[in-house]
Amino acid sequence: MNPTAVPLSQIGSTESSSPTPTLQGTPASGTVPTFLPNAPPLPALSSIIPSQYPKLDVVPPTDSPEVQQWILDVQSTGIQIPSISVTQPGGCPNNTQAAADTTRCWWTCGGCVRETDVSDCPTKNTWGLTYDDGPAFYTPNLLSYLDQNELKSTFFVIGSRAVSFPAILQAEYIGQHHISVHTWSHSAPLTTLTNEQIIAELGWCKKIIKDVLGVTPNTMRPPFGDIDDRVRAISLAMGLTPIMWTRISATATLDTGDFYISSGAITSAQVLQNWEYIMGNASVLNTGFIVLEHDLFQQSVEIATGYILPDALARTPKLTLQPVITCLNHRDK
Ligand SMILES: [Zn+2]
Repeated sequence: MNPTAVPLSQIGSTESSSPTPTLQGTPASGTVPTFLPNAPPLPALSSIIPSQYPKLDVVPPTDSPEVQQWILDVQSTGIQIPSISVTQPGGCPNNTQAAADTTRCWWTCGGCVRETDVSDCPTKNTWGLTYDDGPAFYTPNLLSYLDQNELKSTFFVIGSRAVSFPAILQAEYIGQHHISVHTWSHSAPLTTLTNEQIIAELGWCKKIIKDVLGVTPNTMRPPFGDIDDRVRAISLAMGLTPIMWTRISATATLDTGDFYISSGAITSAQVLQNWEYIMGNASVLNTGFIVLEHDLFQQSVEIATGYILPDALARTPKLTLQPVITCLNHRDK
């Protein structure tokens, strides 16, 4: 176990905030990434002007010149966006007709996937490590644990957080983690939005990542895993391959539940029970797997660095932890 782990009984909704950690080794602007062929130098953080981006944490307007251009870009791909109706908020119980309509392949209600979705790693005992909803105050703690253990992860980044914490996003990228789109606002499931709103959510997240890192992401994860064939087609037309997390039945996915510790909806002990359940299920899969975890809150970072990651590293047979993009390149021969 991690000797510096916060005691499990302290990780919960009533926990006081510990001082936010300083980012170790802030990369200098102009640093040229050596791990990517022909990568441009790292942009200066002074070039990121928050007022030039949409309001934080709400669906961006669709009448801006940027979004209007992205709509034209999507149209010019010739990719047909299926005319599937927008869903109502409230998920499957509030959308019984849509939920029963298998032609729309709505992951949320029944777990339908298409060939273009990534939802596991091909090789058994490989964990495609992912953290969602950052960068945020405690992400540096996670980065420092990953560094100490020579681990790389995929980060599903919210645009509204990236514009607020651009230095952390640069540190993730320069640390050779995989950076992926997780929408601008994360304020609504994508199937509840119009085509134009989905384009705005994905486009602004792509843009802030490009502005901060100098490179354009080519994968995405829909907030809440909410995707159907309409959202898929728009994502693919925007050059973004969807990455989900592993599902083991129509109703169960490999979700730690870590997001809900801070609100008190789940205890940290229950998250560790979920983790045991995940490990039990992963051990009988023929493939590797992807688990839902977050770096938005102090509690989820503490449970990851203090318990889940140390446990994963101590498992027999040995688990290989890799960013999703890396695990996909390591197929069994
Ligand atoms: Zn999320």
